[in-house]
Amino acid sequence: MNHKKEEYEINIVQLPNKILREKSQDVALPLSDEDILLAKKMIYHVEDSIKPKSKFRPAVGVAAIQYGIPKNMFYIYIEDQNHNVIFRDLLINPKVISKSENLVALKQGEGCLSVNESEPNQEGYVKRSYRIIVEGYSYFEKKVVRHDKSNYVAIVLQHELDHLEGKLFIDHIDKKHPWKKTDNLFII
Ligand SMILES: [Zn+2]
Repeated sequence: MNHKKEEYEINIVQLPNKILREKSQDVALPLSDEDILLAKKMIYHVEDSIKPKSKFRPAVGVAAIQYGIPKNMFYIYIEDQNHNVIFRDLLINPKVISKSENLVALKQGEGCLSVNESEPNQEGYVKRSYRIIVEGYSYFEKKVVRHDKSNYVAIVLQHELDHLEGKLFIDHIDKKHPWKKTDNLFII
């Protein structure tokens, strides 16, 4: 199969579509042609989204469920302002090995392609573990890898891991006190 980039059809599922609440399933390895195509589509989508003229809403990651496909796969691509790659991997069947008790949250809260900007109650701290260790099969390395990440990358990993469990960032916001700080919470 030969697919040009232009042929990738990207249709993002948004709330209130209930498929976003489904738990995704593990993917068979080695990847099927269909799953390889899905991986390539995710990579294209996220990397294109941060280009100035992209038609996509900017994203640092996407999970398969956001295309309506309940498979344990997500792709994360994070650059700094100088376009240095901070983190890049497409993880398949990721598992959390451990999480810190110390928490971190983005000072402006989180966003998600599946949560339309018009959706209410999406403002507030999304408290995540400051550090997380994740293991999963890397599409690029073709083997199980371990990522031990803190701060922003840890936040993005947890955001994408949540998608695989049918969770969304809005679930973590304290509805009564959305911007309440706690002692072990680090704001970045
Ligand atoms: Zn999301």
